[in-house]
Amino acid sequence: MLAKTMNHQILHTLENKNVRPTPMRMLVLEQFLQNRTARSLGELEAAMPRADRITIYRTLRTFEEKGILHAITDGSGATHYALCPDACEPEHHREFHPHFHCIRCGRTLCLDITTQPPASLPGGFQLLDMEVQLKGVCPECG
Ligand SMILES: [Zn+2]
Ligand SMILES: [Zn+2]
Ligand SMILES: [Zn+2]
Repeated sequence: MLAKTMNHQILHTLENKNVRPTPMRMLVLEQFLQNRTARSLGELEAAMPRADRITIYRTLRTFEEKGILHAITDGSGATHYALCPDACEPEHHREFHPHFHCIRCGRTLCLDITTQPPASLPGGFQLLDMEVQLKGVCPECG
């Protein structure tokens, strides 16, 4: 059983992004609401032994399309996913925050600060997306 407040938060998030709540979607979202660490498909699979890989994968893709999760490339080779800010909408992500990769524990987290896009780009270049990754040691490892 999910705790009542967690359950409420899950339903609220799904409703906000117009995603129909299914037991699998609620389970996957719970994993992300529990902490801010970005998760890969493999990590989610290990955390939810009774769920099947394809279903988890499809859920991640749906969440990414609907603006609930964003994909992060942290250099580990596996795509990681993390919760989107409220501003994200279906097909229109607004991730203007850097990601912090801890070199000790290997975790990647979203930082709650804004990344400033470059003030100008050379002529003809158009900015569509920006991914900033910081590397260092997280509070738990420091
Ligand atoms: Zn997003
Ligand atoms: Zn760490
Ligand atoms: Zn992020």
